[in-house]
Amino acid sequence: MNIRNGLVEAIGNTPLIKLQRASAATGCTILGKAEFLNPGQSVKDRAALFIIKDAVARGELRPGGVIVEGTAGNTGIGLALVGNALGFRSVIVIPETQSQEKKDMLRLAGATLVEVPAVAYANPNNYVKVSGRLAEELAKSEPNGAIWANQFDNVANRQAHIETTGPEIWDQTEGEVSGFVCAVGTGGTLAGTAMALKERNSRIQIALADPFGAALYSYYTTGELKSEGSSITEGIGQGRITENLKDAPIDHAYRIPDAEAVQIVFDLLEHEGLCLGGSSGINVAGAIHLAKELGPGHTIVTVLCDYGTRYQSKLFNPTFLREKGLPVPGWLERKVELPN
Ligand code: PMP
Repeated sequence: MNIRNGLVEAIGNTPLIKLQRASAATGCTILGKAEFLNPGQSVKDRAALFIIKDAVARGELRPGGVIVEGTAGNTGIGLALVGNALGFRSVIVIPETQSQEKKDMLRLAGATLVEVPAVAYANPNNYVKVSGRLAEELAKSEPNGAIWANQFDNVANRQAHIETTGPEIWDQTEGEVSGFVCAVGTGGTLAGTAMALKERNSRIQIALADPFGAALYSYYTTGELKSEGSSITEGIGQGRITENLKDAPIDHAYRIPDAEAVQIVFDLLEHEGLCLGGSSGINVAGAIHLAKELGPGHTIVTVLCDYGTRYQSKLFNPTFLREKGLPVPGWLERKVELPN
C-alpha cells in the first residue's frame, strides 16, 4: 500500500512540471517545483514542519503548546495545519496589507490572528517584532511552552530545503539540473536548495529573482543593501541578510518588474492550466533570464510557490490590477450573452 501516514507525510515530494512556453522560448528545459500542491498550498509547509520538529526535539514545545509567528500568511497556514495535526495551537501576527484569502484561511484553520499595520522592519511595531514579543509573553504563562517560530532567522527553515527540496530536485532531474532560481522572503528556499545542489555539483548555477522594493538584487550585484520601487507580490521582498540567507552561494541576480511577473502568471493559467500566486511569476521570469544567460540545452528549476486562489481579490481582480497599472487578463472580464 502507498499511504502517507497523516498530513505531515503529505508535505513535500512535489512533482516537477515542465513549463512548456518558457522552455520553448529559451531552448532550455524549464521546470517548476509544484509547491502549491502541498497540503497548505505553499512551499512554506516544509519550513513550518521543520521549525516545529526542531522545537519539539529541543524540548521547547510540548503537546498542547503554542507556536507564535509573524508571517505574510503562508508560513502561518503551514504552522496552523501542522500544529493541528501534531497537537499544537498557533498565534499568527500578520500585516493587514496581506490578502484577505490568506487571513480567512488562517482563521478557518483555527489560528488566533493578530492583524497589525504594515511598518518597516526597523520599527518596533513591525509584525516580526510584535510576534517575538508576544511569544516571550506567552512563554511565561503557557504550561506546555510557547515558541517563536522566527522563520527569518531560525535556520531550521532552510534545513527543510537542505534535507528535502534540494535532494528532491537532484533526484527528479537525475542530476541533470544546471540552474536553480527563486525569490526570497526569508531566504530559506533559495539558500537551502542552493546549498544542497552545490554540495552535489558545485557547477550548478544559483540565481536570485528579486521583486522591486527588495534590497537583495542590489546586495548581490553591488554589495549594498538598497531598494527602489515596490511590488504587489506577497511573501517575498527582503531588505536584509537574514540568518537563513547567510553564506547562500548565489551566482546571478535579476530584478523582475511586476508587469513581467504577472503576465507570466496569467499566461501560465491561460495556456498551461497552472493557477499560481505572484511570487511564482517572479520565479519563472527569473528562470527565463537564467536560461537566456546560460544558453539553450540547460535544465533550469524554479519554484511554483503557492496557489493562485490565495490572491483572487488582488492579482485576479481587474479593478486592483488597473489601479496598479498592470495588465488585466481578458477572460476575467469576458461576458457571455445568453440567447433570448
Ligand atoms: N512565495 C510566497 C508566496 C511565500 O509566501 C514565500 C514565503 N514567505 C516565498 C515565496 C519565499 O520563500 P522563503 O521564505 O523560503 O524565501
